[in-house]
Amino acid sequence: MDIKSPYLHPEYETLSREEISKLQTSRLQETIKRCLQVPFYAQKFKEMGIRPEDIASPEDIRKLPFTTKQDLRDTYPFGLAAVPLSDCVRLHSSSGTTGNPTVILHTQNDLDEWANQVARNLWMVGLRPDDVFQNSSGYGMFTGGLGFQYGAERMGMLTVPAAAGNSLRQIKFIKDFGTTAIHAVPSYLTRLYEVMQEQGVDPRKDTNLRVFAIGAEPHSEEQRKRIENMFGVKAYNSFGMSEMCGPGVGFECQEQNGLHFWEDYYIVEIVNPETLEPVPDGEIGELVLTTLRREAMPLIRYRTRDLTRVLGRSCPCGRNHVRIDRMKGRSDDMIVLRGVNIFPIQIEKILMTFPELASNYLITLSTDNDNDNMTVEVELAEMFTDDYARLHSLTKNLTRALKDEILLTPIVKLVPKGSLPVSEGKAVRVVDKRKVYQ
Ligand code: AMP
Ligand code: ZN
Repeated sequence: MDIKSPYLHPEYETLSREEISKLQTSRLQETIKRCLQVPFYAQKFKEMGIRPEDIASPEDIRKLPFTTKQDLRDTYPFGLAAVPLSDCVRLHSSSGTTGNPTVILHTQNDLDEWANQVARNLWMVGLRPDDVFQNSSGYGMFTGGLGFQYGAERMGMLTVPAAAGNSLRQIKFIKDFGTTAIHAVPSYLTRLYEVMQEQGVDPRKDTNLRVFAIGAEPHSEEQRKRIENMFGVKAYNSFGMSEMCGPGVGFECQEQNGLHFWEDYYIVEIVNPETLEPVPDGEIGELVLTTLRREAMPLIRYRTRDLTRVLGRSCPCGRNHVRIDRMKGRSDDMIVLRGVNIFPIQIEKILMTFPELASNYLITLSTDNDNDNMTVEVELAEMFTDDYARLHSLTKNLTRALKDEILLTPIVKLVPKGSLPVSEGKAVRVVDKRKVYQ
């Protein structure tokens, strides 16, 4: 198999574990040197007595301090820059719900490496320069736009910067330009399919689509399968985050058996979020990432708050970069209802197994008569809102299946297709209207 992408050092893709370890050690030392230019890190290293030469293996990363999103906010906007601002050519920012947003700086080399990473991923899933790549993702501060744009161009594909939303225009582009690949958030692709159906467009017959890159938001294996079955197109999970660059950090190969996280660019750790100690492979914990190549803003042991686990360190595709499971969710997305911990993805997983249901859903938490409740509204795939017997039995079965999964009985409401809000970017799945008692 032609597994190495011809993008910046293709040999890195098939390194042995031993070679990865060696490369990471030297790149971690370089990163620490760069971090010494950042007062925030220089101070911490001094307090902890850390010197670059003390790093003898990637495991020595455990001697280093963690970095949190709060650290990025506290040093807003440019406090973590390791180079003069005059050496930076771009910034991206992700808006927080509270306080300062976070700002990520890039040098030209950072942008080049980022484009190479994305190009490597797109090559890995079988795309080639003669493909037509439509990027149906928000442009601007959100990294899914420019990140995929530059990566797809780097590979040499004809790239259509369609941006998010406006499904009729998306469909016209797909047909007129012969689009073969799309990048979008998964919740948007299910919406796009519904509009295709309304327009009488059959993606199997009327389009050349063959590859999707889906990511930027948690989604279940069941949702991925649903998208693949709807369009007859392979959908590959793409993981990224602005703090690490954007998309390109981890991507599934054609085996679809977890995300290859690129260890020539990052050191990947999974830690227990309470004790911050490493967890064994296979056990769920918080993903912690250290950049190995970033010039403008290297980050050490960045706590992503994403929860996942290591699946393995080899793959039939020939790549030995660590394989990471699809994200279970973010620790801050976890719903705690009546003392029970629930991730929205658990609910999605169940909804997707009912063919009578469409893909859009909304979870609302509310306080009624001093009791906290969860209401799950989900759109019906077809219009049978007048068939009360069928609605009743579907509601009953769905409530039971959800209870088995989340151990609480939610209020289930089946609503007509197209009646729940659709966001252009990442889907909003949970609205919390609970009263907070103090
Ligand atoms: P942002 O920096 O705004 O692009 O957001 C990054 C966050 O999006 C990550 O920390 C994850 O929580 C989420 N995310 C990105 N890609 C995926 C994915 N493939 N699966 C699940 N969550 C994802
Ligand atoms: Zn693989």
